[in-house]
Amino acid sequence: MTKWVYVFGEGRTEGAADMRNLLGGKGANLAEMARMGLPVPPGFTVTTEVCTHYYKNEHSYPEALKAQVEDALKAVGALTGRTFGDTSDPLLLSVRSGARVSMPGMMDTVLNLGLNDVTVKALAEQSGDERFAYDSYRRFIQMYSDVVLGVDNDYFEEIIEDIKDDKDYRLDTDLTADDWKGCVEAFKEKVKEELGRSFPEDPHEQLWGAIGAVFSSWMIPRAQTYRKIHGIPEEWGTAVNVQAMVYGNMGEGSATGVAFTRNPATGENALYGEFLVNAQGEDVVAGIRTPQDITEAARIASGSEKPSLEALMPEVFGQFRETCCKLETHYREMQDLEFTVERGKLWMLQTRTGKRTLKAALKIAVEMAEEGLITKEEAVNRIDPGSLDQLLHPTIDPNAERDELTTGLPASPGAASGAIVFNPDDAEAEKAEGNAVILVRTETSPEDIHGMHAAEGILTSRGGMTSHAAVVARGMGKPCVSGAGAIRVDMQRQVMLVDGRTFKKGDIITIDGSSGQVLAGRAEMLEPELSGDFQKLMDWADAMRRMKVRANAETPADVKTALAFGAEGIGLCRTEHMFFDGDRILAVREMILSDTEEERREALAKLLPMQRDDFSQIFELMEDRPVTIRLLDPPLHEFLPKTDEEIGEVARQMNVDPEDLKERALELEEFNPMLGNRGCRLLISYPEIAEMQARAIFEAAAEVSRRRGVTVKPEVMVPLVGLRSELDFVRGRIEAIAKEIDAEQSVSLEYSIGTMIELPRAALRAAEIAESAEFFSFGTNDLTQTTFGISRDDAASFLGTYQERKILEKDPFVSLDTNGVGELIEIAAQRGRESRSDIKLGICGEHGGDAASIYFCEKTGLDYVSCSPFRVPVARLAAAQAVLKKVDRDV
Ligand code: ADP
Ligand code: MG
Ligand code: MG
Repeated sequence: MTKWVYVFGEGRTEGAADMRNLLGGKGANLAEMARMGLPVPPGFTVTTEVCTHYYKNEHSYPEALKAQVEDALKAVGALTGRTFGDTSDPLLLSVRSGARVSMPGMMDTVLNLGLNDVTVKALAEQSGDERFAYDSYRRFIQMYSDVVLGVDNDYFEEIIEDIKDDKDYRLDTDLTADDWKGCVEAFKEKVKEELGRSFPEDPHEQLWGAIGAVFSSWMIPRAQTYRKIHGIPEEWGTAVNVQAMVYGNMGEGSATGVAFTRNPATGENALYGEFLVNAQGEDVVAGIRTPQDITEAARIASGSEKPSLEALMPEVFGQFRETCCKLETHYREMQDLEFTVERGKLWMLQTRTGKRTLKAALKIAVEMAEEGLITKEEAVNRIDPGSLDQLLHPTIDPNAERDELTTGLPASPGAASGAIVFNPDDAEAEKAEGNAVILVRTETSPEDIHGMHAAEGILTSRGGMTSHAAVVARGMGKPCVSGAGAIRVDMQRQVMLVDGRTFKKGDIITIDGSSGQVLAGRAEMLEPELSGDFQKLMDWADAMRRMKVRANAETPADVKTALAFGAEGIGLCRTEHMFFDGDRILAVREMILSDTEEERREALAKLLPMQRDDFSQIFELMEDRPVTIRLLDPPLHEFLPKTDEEIGEVARQMNVDPEDLKERALELEEFNPMLGNRGCRLLISYPEIAEMQARAIFEAAAEVSRRRGVTVKPEVMVPLVGLRSELDFVRGRIEAIAKEIDAEQSVSLEYSIGTMIELPRAALRAAEIAESAEFFSFGTNDLTQTTFGISRDDAASFLGTYQERKILEKDPFVSLDTNGVGELIEIAAQRGRESRSDIKLGICGEHGGDAASIYFCEKTGLDYVSCSPFRVPVARLAAAQAVLKKVDRDV
């Protein structure tokens, strides 16, 4: 026969902590505490399976339930020496809901169940306190009517207020026994008036009513909404806990409270909590009276006049503190506790893992490991890598006032305030004047890079999480809100319209790239602080991980940030960003629009010293750490002059007719540039580009090696290869240049040549490509784009709908599609290794900073992940957790 009911209490406990699925979190932990010999009022748990049965069978209970509840009631009676429903020595109960995970939105607890006009007299007699008995009775009617019968609590609060007004009382505690008696009568009248029937006097009817209410509350809308948001399956169901009452409202020697075994805000290893004398249950959180501090230290710190529990009830306090220690040691986690003191006796009512801030989480994990309570592996596993973002960027002070305008996508974390500018040149000019600006655009393009660099933050009205603005901002570690659709940028009038308000250039706004919020005016900020606990935990993680962590970086500033955050190399240095800087774009345009190779070489010669200098700066910082440099990759159109003014400028420089140049630019236009002449195709069309870039790389490497006495070993990466012959062609040019430089400078360059795997064909043909490539770097942004055939710049318009309609669970540009794109990576890794056993494998897409994707990389045996500099700590931690195989839960 199925066991539907589990008893807990001194000497007879049938449940345990590991039975959370069956008994719910509260029930399992009550049983565990009873097992540990802690003072827990006896009771029983009706299992979550009853809830499931209830919903599968038209809201009815299993046959055997009634008898099992009767038995359990007898057992609890035996443990307490009282009988449920007895008229002279009644057992009174609390009925509490409890799912597997704590779930606000479920039914509230009903206390003092079993009271009626007869048993209340017995309670008065027994306790010798009539006032207490009637206070308990009125609480019961109030709670039960509200929670089980659906009579609005406001009616009851009004009745109490009327009595207080009448008698000129200030506090609930001023009411006398007779006042509460009158109150009980008025409550019952009200219930009858509202429901057309009397309040149930029969204790058994009361009990089954309350149990039914708990199960019903599993399906009320706010519980369903909560489950949906937090991904809690409906099938889990809730348990019901029925427990003997203990009384915190039995006079001045009684109390009730809540506590954490460590400070949940700071993580400090000090008991932290609040309590109220002569009170029951919810009074502490309800805010009717101001609670008192539990410890003297906390009371002094808060400057409270009211005595602490430590001072007021030293013996109980000592016992409580000991209990807290026991529980923390037993669960090996910070606990959140509920307790009640009945006439000097301590009772434990609940324990669970306490929620905490990230700062506290780091401190608690590190200190518990140092105390020997947990292992370092457990400490490393307890921090959510994604949450580290909040540590690395400024955040808006949670207490700051917010004049919210709209919310867009949280594209790049951190918050920033500044004056609005609408174009990148203004951003640069303002920055030069020392002003902080926010660059506001409909969307950004590669030509905006200098403005994005100058701005404190970027706001766009269009574009998704992987739009140009989002990707570049994350790379730079700049806050960015993208796709704020409610904003209209009017470039003509140079204004931003939102929410019926108009903002012009120079107006101050604040963006929060972690939440997507856009605010008017300047908001108070909190600066990031990297604590010693953070450093320690990262050191431990580093010792545990197998994969290396590199950064995607190309400017000296980004490289420095990456190194400061612990990057061990550069996995992706994008050379095109360097092409947009300052006057260079002119030379780049000249090169593209040249008719002959000769002219092109002339233009390239102008770029060579600049590129060489870029690489020197990077090698200088990186020394002998690996640096992967990708040759020119983006679609041509990104470089083409667009306005007549731009064309005129290039024409002057080249000494040609602007009209001719315009025509040439038109010829180069492509229908689908993302799939057009880009990547290695560009390098094959114009091999001079690859040669110039190779020369810049190798000359810089030779120079820095010589000067610094280290061996710089650049990794030259050819993008967008689909055919081995493509790679071989470009490879030939690179090797020829290396030979030239060897001869010119009498050096022997050490370098390697590899490719990005970002086309399905390349993944499939990895075996032959690996014969020509010393490394593969999975460019998962493009690989996702080409595998799905989804343009990532246009994906925002439908991927949201896809997720809403459950067609796709996650955005594949944010978290790797491990099934499809992942399979291609696995195939490429395996085939690549078959033909070159020591081939170096890494990932350099946006996914390199995503915990679930990093877990996949670990499983696939990649050598490193590479991500934007600010995500390096996230990747270090996630890579360690991947080794510990605990990331499973997130995947
Ligand atoms: P929640 O899940 O909202 O915390 P609980 O079931 O823990 O609800 O009940 C809320 C409060 O009710 C508890 O903190 C405790 O103060 C009080 N309470 C619950 N059960 C009992 C009991 N058996 N005796 C006395 N007070 C109780
Ligand atoms: Mg509780
Ligand atoms: Mg690419």
